[in-house]
Amino acid sequence: MSTQIRVRFAPSPTGYLHVGGLRTALYNYLFAKHHDGKFVLRIEDTDQARRVEGAVENLIATLDWAGIRFDEGPGRDGGYGPYVQSERLEIYRKHADDLIKKGFAYRCFCTPERLEEIRQRQNAAKLSTSYDRHCRDLAADEVERRLNAGERNVIRMKVPLEGVLTFEDIIRGTVAIAHEVLDDQVIIKSDGFPTYHLAVVVDDHLMAISHVIRGEEWLPSTPKHILLYKFFGWELPKFAHLPLLLNPDKSKLSKRQGDVAVEDYRSKGYFKEAIVNFVAFLGWNPGDEREIFSLEELVREFSLERVGKSGAVFNVEKLNWLNFEYLKRMPEAEVLRLLKAYLAQSPYAGQLLDDHFLLSVIRAMRERATFIKDLVEKSPYFFERPTQYDQDVVKKRWKPETGSQMKRLLEEFAQLQNPGKEHFESALHKAAESLQIKTSELIHPLRLAVSGVGAGPGLYDILAIIGKEETIHRLSAAIEKLQ
Ligand code: GLU
Repeated sequence: MSTQIRVRFAPSPTGYLHVGGLRTALYNYLFAKHHDGKFVLRIEDTDQARRVEGAVENLIATLDWAGIRFDEGPGRDGGYGPYVQSERLEIYRKHADDLIKKGFAYRCFCTPERLEEIRQRQNAAKLSTSYDRHCRDLAADEVERRLNAGERNVIRMKVPLEGVLTFEDIIRGTVAIAHEVLDDQVIIKSDGFPTYHLAVVVDDHLMAISHVIRGEEWLPSTPKHILLYKFFGWELPKFAHLPLLLNPDKSKLSKRQGDVAVEDYRSKGYFKEAIVNFVAFLGWNPGDEREIFSLEELVREFSLERVGKSGAVFNVEKLNWLNFEYLKRMPEAEVLRLLKAYLAQSPYAGQLLDDHFLLSVIRAMRERATFIKDLVEKSPYFFERPTQYDQDVVKKRWKPETGSQMKRLLEEFAQLQNPGKEHFESALHKAAESLQIKTSELIHPLRLAVSGVGAGPGLYDILAIIGKEETIHRLSAAIEKLQ
């Protein structure tokens, strides 16, 4: 085996990138980059029934978006291609034939009906279902004859009947399994396509993969793969099976409890940095309290030794928190760019909103926002006049005497010239003093009048951002409507 680290992400193109797939891709990428190795993308599309148009392009686009760049793969030849399994069918057939010649595989002519019968019989007897090895010892001339007659057949591997197979997994330690529980796995189907098991072993070997890093759901397949390596006489790669992803209730992560497609999180407005940071922690941790990691920092710190065995809970609250943190830390100019892009697609697209105005909204709202869209959706009053008033707040804050008190406040505001927030503040204090009431008697109804709601960023910030004319307009309108 070459000493260079070579790892691969080998998705079956199903139409979208599952968050579990992103985690596998990321860990492979981090491991490769940490060791100056190569990260290979291989498309495992031998299940023709599951083919989805455009799935590969979409997968590559999503990986690119996340910043997980592959060194070799479709369209990026590194000398080990082709990297799409459906373009490698001849290679698999040749290797299956080799195994037959060496006596490690055999042709099986059993019909689907016969296999179904065995399955039902085994089920009825409460036995585990496996092939009964009916064709394992057919005489060579019989095989020849049936092949010549064009009989449908598959190729199966000849699993040893006795003995125990053991292997080392970097994450799980020593794994041992008795040969007798392994099925004589089909390696070439009747349509001539390889099964996953043959294709993955042949490709990992021919592509000089040094470490196979993949989800735990593939662990039960690994003994079959190891047997195939032995049959071929090839050196084993190292294996690392990543812990399962779980829903908060500890069941296996499923669509039913939330989104699983990376694309869904992307379109909801999560930042790629937050998603990558979040996914990195699904099974790995740095061994201390730090939680915010850029991709470069992850490359520096990542190791398989710090990947745990137990299932990793997918907690959307944590992802939200990370998004909030990333928004808080983002350079203002970048927030501005993203906000403008968001507004261009919003009902406010037609408004002329200058950068100065938008930056003040950002400064007022950023700490209250998880997503860019929150800068608008949580404070629509920066973009339009309130059309209604929160009735609970009206009941609590707008008393019979409030209208006339607000008129007093209006008079103070009317005298201001180009006011900043502190001028609004002192005008309000002055009005409260002359009315001999507490400032809060004015502050709460004023907030309601200009925003329609009872909470938000600092009141004087809001006033300074919308400006004197708009404040006066909104206050007058509220006095009239809330009589
Ligand atoms: N094609 C398999 C998948 O869809 C790859 C499993 C492996 O990495 O060996 O995940």
